[in-house]
Amino acid sequence: MALERWQQARGGRFLLVTQNIDTLHEQAGSKELIKVHGSADRARCSQDGCPLGAPTGSIPRDRIAIQPFQDRPSRETLPRCPRCGSFLRQHVLWFDELYDGHRDYQWNRVLGAMRLALCIGTSFSVGVTELVLRAASLRQVPVFSVDPGASGGPRHYGLRQLRAKAEELLPAVCVELGASEELEKSG
Ligand SMILES: [Zn+2]
Repeated sequence: MALERWQQARGGRFLLVTQNIDTLHEQAGSKELIKVHGSADRARCSQDGCPLGAPTGSIPRDRIAIQPFQDRPSRETLPRCPRCGSFLRQHVLWFDELYDGHRDYQWNRVLGAMRLALCIGTSFSVGVTELVLRAASLRQVPVFSVDPGASGGPRHYGLRQLRAKAEELLPAVCVELGASEELEKSG
């Protein structure tokens, strides 16, 4: 969030891309944010084409009556779409799905925005990191892995390792950039 404020204060553009589905980034104040794996605070209709399903629809989880299922878990009490009656599902990317499966994943925007990529806190064992590395390589975008471990991720796409702990390196970068005041404000 400090980096976002710092970058925008100098007239630059910033985009945070996360695989996390929780809402911690929003709670911390991040605004320019793409959650490529969806968001756990929403659900959607399992029927594609329903206004509350893919490719554009979803509903907040707190508007779903989940209590009957929690009281008596069964197929009959599973939460259903208020528009069409189909089963509801989590508004997150499942293993057999593609990034263009829902507009909210904003995958094309991620690729279009890539100028320099920092991969932080990833084991590179999920498909999204392979896609990012391949896209970065095609666009000749520099890509770094912040990782204190020995491997630092795959090297075949020109990935460069910054061998450090993210919780130490990133605050140090903020201090160097002059963004540390924003860090202090954000706690
Ligand atoms: Zn529906």
